[in-house]
Amino acid sequence: MKKVFLTLTLIFAFSLNAFSQASGVENVRIRIFSDKDVEEVLFIPSFGNYFLETEKGDKVKLNKTSKVKITDLDGQIEIKINDTVFQKAKKVNISSVGLKSFFQIKPLKPQIAERRYEDCLEISSKNKSLFIINVVKTDNYIAGVVQSETWGATTNVDFFKIQAICCRNYLMNNLEKHTSEGYNLCDGVHCQAYKTRANKKEVTEGAYKSKGEVIVDSENKIIETLFHSNSGGITVNAKDVWGKEVPYLVSIEDSFSVGGKNYKWEKYIKLKDWLNYFRHKGINTKDKEIEDLLLNFSQEDGRKTDILGIPLTTIRKDFNLKSTFFNVQKWANEVKLTGKGYGHGVGMSQEGAIKMCEEGYEYWEVIEHYFKGVKVIKQ
Ligand SMILES: [Zn+2]
Repeated sequence: MKKVFLTLTLIFAFSLNAFSQASGVENVRIRIFSDKDVEEVLFIPSFGNYFLETEKGDKVKLNKTSKVKITDLDGQIEIKINDTVFQKAKKVNISSVGLKSFFQIKPLKPQIAERRYEDCLEISSKNKSLFIINVVKTDNYIAGVVQSETWGATTNVDFFKIQAICCRNYLMNNLEKHTSEGYNLCDGVHCQAYKTRANKKEVTEGAYKSKGEVIVDSENKIIETLFHSNSGGITVNAKDVWGKEVPYLVSIEDSFSVGGKNYKWEKYIKLKDWLNYFRHKGINTKDKEIEDLLLNFSQEDGRKTDILGIPLTTIRKDFNLKSTFFNVQKWANEVKLTGKGYGHGVGMSQEGAIKMCEEGYEYWEVIEHYFKGVKVIKQ
């Protein structure tokens, strides 16, 4: 009985801790169009009603027919509603009314394709361009990222569940990435791509069904959920790529990646370029035995980490290869590289995960397959 009580206390203490972490992030601040210098945008409510308010306190209700044009005036912004100047101000807040609402935003200077987002918007002027923040419910943000990053690969809801959990892990671990600049994350690949609201039902279903779920390691720490396109059949140790050992990012056999779209690749390199590359790295390529090794390098028996001390990760980068998992063969006056997989190979293979989901594995089984010794918990 005592033991049960202790266990319950521990579970309670942990849940409380996790809850306090999660309760702080009901909304997140995401900077949109973060990689562009936008000087003018057009805002149109698409669904639901919105209130527009500046720091001066004037509040206007917007509806579907309202067209709000916001222009940067270097330190200030000009707000026009339906072509009439409403105000010049430092900052405008456009907040949604009601549970479900979304809007479209289109940069006019420069012209960029319009995007749709949910919830609220804050616009001010910073460094001679508009500083645009989407204040969005965390769940809506996660669904938007999943759609931006993975839509098109499958329609399997369990796969989107996994992606949503990975995205939530990233968010929890990186909430303060841009806080010194006044927001949490940007919308680019620097953080997580967030180019749209989610409007595909499989994506929203996956995101909302996994609400609050995160992946933790054996010490209950939220893990870094690294992923790549295809492992080529064996994943890679984090240590072999970045030099740092991570207990849950270790190499595993991954038959689920075999036969995927990015399972195989080939590349031809001029024989002389291949040998010169190693010569410049200080290797005596005139030595017959060494030359033989460079022209017959093989990973048939499993992944290796280097060729004569040169890390495969360096070779991959220098020759722009899809993966480090390749064999070499002499081919007339060229070398033929026959490779497997696409990406750094650490953590989860997306094509493998899709295959597992389509074969009927539970989403947590997929997660536990790719990340060693972890578990999914609900916050
Ligand atoms: Zn960022």
